[in-house]
Amino acid sequence: MNFHDFHDCVLCPRKCHADRTKYSGFCGGTNQLKVAAAMLHFWEEPCISGKNGSGAIFFSGCNLKCCFCQNEKLSHQNYGKIISTEHLAEIFLSLQEQGAHNLNLVTACHVLPWVIPALEKVKSFLHIPVVYNSGGYESVETLKLLNGLVDIYLTDFKFFRPETAEKYASAPDYPEIADSAFQEMLNQTGKPVFEGELLKKGCILRHMVMPSLRKESISLLEFLAEKYNPENFLLSLMAQYTPMKQQNFPELNRKLTKMEYFSVLDTAQKLQFQGYSQEISSAKKDYTPDFHLQGI
Ligand code: SF4
Repeated sequence: MNFHDFHDCVLCPRKCHADRTKYSGFCGGTNQLKVAAAMLHFWEEPCISGKNGSGAIFFSGCNLKCCFCQNEKLSHQNYGKIISTEHLAEIFLSLQEQGAHNLNLVTACHVLPWVIPALEKVKSFLHIPVVYNSGGYESVETLKLLNGLVDIYLTDFKFFRPETAEKYASAPDYPEIADSAFQEMLNQTGKPVFEGELLKKGCILRHMVMPSLRKESISLLEFLAEKYNPENFLLSLMAQYTPMKQQNFPELNRKLTKMEYFSVLDTAQKLQFQGYSQEISSAKKDYTPDFHLQGI
């Protein structure tokens, strides 16, 4: 693994310099690969899940760790099972055999030292696209390692103001990092390419509207429309925020109102974004998959 030093990890923008051979980094990653589940997943955007489902591999740990995370068992508690690169490569092929429309690598940045060799191993046997599903907190240098291996970026742009990113994810540089990461992702994929209803290449930018932050969401959309032509990617505007536990920030202890979501959706439509919106009724704990090592 010559692109990565486990003794001094700087794989993601946290650059926490953890010696992952002795202790876990901010993301929870050590020098072993941990996976929480691998399964056909039907709750992604329709062009990703299709009829058969997306072949999702949920990696344990996360380099962002938002305080309101909807998958805390994985991201904060690092739930999962240690497996080898060879086993990961077998999981990729098994998901393809089960009929998955794509391989969907969920939060993989901190485990790329295993994911990249596993992808290289199976590349010649894969006939489905590879989706890199990210929180958006990625360094351009690391993303360049994925050029040619990833077909679709499904990435978040969570916060537009450094103050919000610091408050909820201890990452004040998030807006700037997510912006340069998105530029690199677009450079790699180009405009969306469909085969029937399914996306084969391109970028989907996800943004979840948060309680009390609709104005920040609107500023983000205006920025994205001006900097990146809305024709160049798909926007997925999410309404599913659900308080999973009592939060220290009172505004996070409620769901989104219809007014909040529809005011942002209205802006997205005026700015001529193409893509996906959600029903407010999607904000339910039931829509968050449970993880118990399925498919591992
Ligand atoms: S990938 Fe993990 S260990 Fe490495 S710099 Fe990021 S947070 Fe730290």
